[in-house]
Amino acid sequence: MLIECSLIIYDLVSPVRKELVSHRSYLFTQIVTGKYYLCVSNSTYANRIHYDIAMLEKILYKNIKERKMGLLFKDPKQVLMATADSSEMLYLFYRQLNDIIDGKNIIIGKRHNLPKIEHNENCYNLVRYSNPLDSNVFDNILLKINHLSKIVMENCDLPKIPINIGNLPIRYLSISGSNIPTSQFDQNIYWNWMSMKTISCTLVVLKINAIGLKLLPFELLFLKNLQSLSASKNFLTFLPHFIAEMKKLNRLIVADNMLTYYPDRLSRRSFKTVDISNNLFDVPESLRFKHLTKYLNVFGSLKRPDKELNVKPLSHLSFYSLIKTRIPFIRQDIPQTLWLFYDVVGRCAKCNKCILPDYSVISHRNGLPRAINLIKDQNTINIPLQFLLCRVSRHLCVRR
Ligand SMILES: [Zn+2]
Repeated sequence: MLIECSLIIYDLVSPVRKELVSHRSYLFTQIVTGKYYLCVSNSTYANRIHYDIAMLEKILYKNIKERKMGLLFKDPKQVLMATADSSEMLYLFYRQLNDIIDGKNIIIGKRHNLPKIEHNENCYNLVRYSNPLDSNVFDNILLKINHLSKIVMENCDLPKIPINIGNLPIRYLSISGSNIPTSQFDQNIYWNWMSMKTISCTLVVLKINAIGLKLLPFELLFLKNLQSLSASKNFLTFLPHFIAEMKKLNRLIVADNMLTYYPDRLSRRSFKTVDISNNLFDVPESLRFKHLTKYLNVFGSLKRPDKELNVKPLSHLSFYSLIKTRIPFIRQDIPQTLWLFYDVVGRCAKCNKCILPDYSVISHRNGLPRAINLIKDQNTINIPLQFLLCRVSRHLCVRR
């Protein structure tokens, strides 16, 4: 079984009290020649550390509901303090460790745990790891479970997510570590399920870690009640400003990407957790505008009779109204060039008006995201916060 967590490793014998650093980590169990091991994998220990579970002296489980668990080992004399992403998963992990200690014959999948389906009277959870997902099974069985509320399909082959999944009242969805399609066509229709009415109201937690993502899909905007978005270990080079439109979001995990800035409007809101560790915030300022290049390549060369855009093009007006109303639609229903608008749209830092780059100047100030639990690199004091100001001709916004 595998869980995702923030992990601190205390060495009880080391005479030097080093500063303790928490690392985003995977904790998982493994069986090698009949012996059970607990493995840790993170950016510091990419080759994994193995702990013999027979050496586990004590499990500190009292704060398990707060997602925290400690593991005290005799050899090496170390304590692992884990803060898991999910208390449910942590509890299952704790139970599995106990079963191993009790000498029960635990079957551990080669990569992770075996599929497990749990349910109670009103709500079904589907937890599925490792096994390639048979899309027919998905369509025919899964979509008939009307009360499915949790789907975990991690480390699967996931060439498509049927749009009808959006008709289920799912609150928690994780596809972390799964293989998403590589063809542009399949990628373009991959997120259509987010536009469906039911899931756009019910989804609270979405985990899309380590799926090779280069861009956050703008359909995220349709998920009105999303509180937790986890998109770490991807190839994101920028965070679109539209994330600030997601009013319920209070947990944002974007560690281990290639982000060069953080949207200023997001930093003005208080989050429960923000993880921005291991990104590229130190790059020269010019690289922080890279997300604009595609947009400018498409629209910058357009010859317009009214260069100052005193009369806004219809495409801009209709796009603003899409942002304002946030009525879900399928992305194929609007011209593909307009998809680019979502990557660059923002709001003026002074008057809060929704603006495209054609009507704004983009700049940075130094600061940090506001979060009760802010996870960042140890030596990060400030990061660039990107903001937009509306501009008419050469005049900047003066409204407060
Ligand atoms: Zn303004």
